[in-house]
Amino acid sequence: MKRFLSAALTTSAILASSSRAFAQAPAATPAPGADHHAAAPADPFRLKPLAGNVYALYGRGGNVGFFVGPDAVLVVDSQFKDLAPGIVAQIRKVSDKPIKFLLNTHHHGDHVGGNEVFKQFAMIIAHDNVRTRMLASPADIQRDYPAQLEEAKKAGNADMVKFFTDQIAWAKTVKIEEIPAPVMTFDSQLSIHIGDETIHVWHLPPAHTDGDSVVYFEKAKVLHMGDDFFNQVIPFVDVKSGGSFNGYMAAIDKVVSKVPADATVIPGHGEVSDVAGLKAFRQYFVDLSAAAKAAKAAGKSKDAFSKEAKLPAYESWNGYKDRFASNAAAAWDEAR
Ligand SMILES: [Zn+2]
Repeated sequence: MKRFLSAALTTSAILASSSRAFAQAPAATPAPGADHHAAAPADPFRLKPLAGNVYALYGRGGNVGFFVGPDAVLVVDSQFKDLAPGIVAQIRKVSDKPIKFLLNTHHHGDHVGGNEVFKQFAMIIAHDNVRTRMLASPADIQRDYPAQLEEAKKAGNADMVKFFTDQIAWAKTVKIEEIPAPVMTFDSQLSIHIGDETIHVWHLPPAHTDGDSVVYFEKAKVLHMGDDFFNQVIPFVDVKSGGSFNGYMAAIDKVVSKVPADATVIPGHGEVSDVAGLKAFRQYFVDLSAAAKAAKAAGKSKDAFSKEAKLPAYESWNGYKDRFASNAAAAWDEAR
């Protein structure tokens, strides 16, 4: 997620770290002119009003969604800690109602990093596994990061050295009760009622992680997919966090069966889209899965397939160079 997180950090490193590093956002300075995420660091935000008092807010992490009700504001995802005050300021541009709820679609750092700010005034809600994975992060960091720190030192990558050093220091000193994890969790689904809007939160089969939820604003007909939808962006399948390549197709099918065909769809990354856009994203998994099955049947090794596989139709998607090979490896693993 180089483009979304930090031009200074390597993709594989940040994807690995983003699953845990919610406490401290990397000091990201997006490359100028790369795309809309690369607005001036001082103001990375772009607000898009959707139907029924639902808004999409683009910034530097996963896309934020929020709903303004008659007596409360509900927010979906919180990007990074350093951006959270800016998210609140953007919400304040359209409403002075109290921000009562924050939903986390999953545990990655570019979606929960702002929790530390929101927890001061909002109830944070997510799937059980989001809390579990966030609470496990200090142990994960202390297990995995020292080796990555050494690699960064060898590579002479000063930004990553600082990032891993800071993260390890945080992991050694943080108290579990200080971690801004969800305080209300659920195992399957829940509904929140604000004014005449009903907000459905559905946990999906493992796809991006094993704690993915999507949020559907019933009256507004707006769906926030979290990272179960990267719009015209090559996805990250976090297999280490219980994610599944094939699971993406099952998860999307489940959502599509629940929402009307004319719903507006906010992806975790990329521009706001619709159900057709979501289905186009699903097709990527179908196509890569078919290629993996054919390669496996032809006796090609995982290594060879992930190096040689090509899907020209998706080369224009953001992140193809960085993440396609790892997607191919995941597809091969699950090809049957
Ligand atoms: Zn994610």
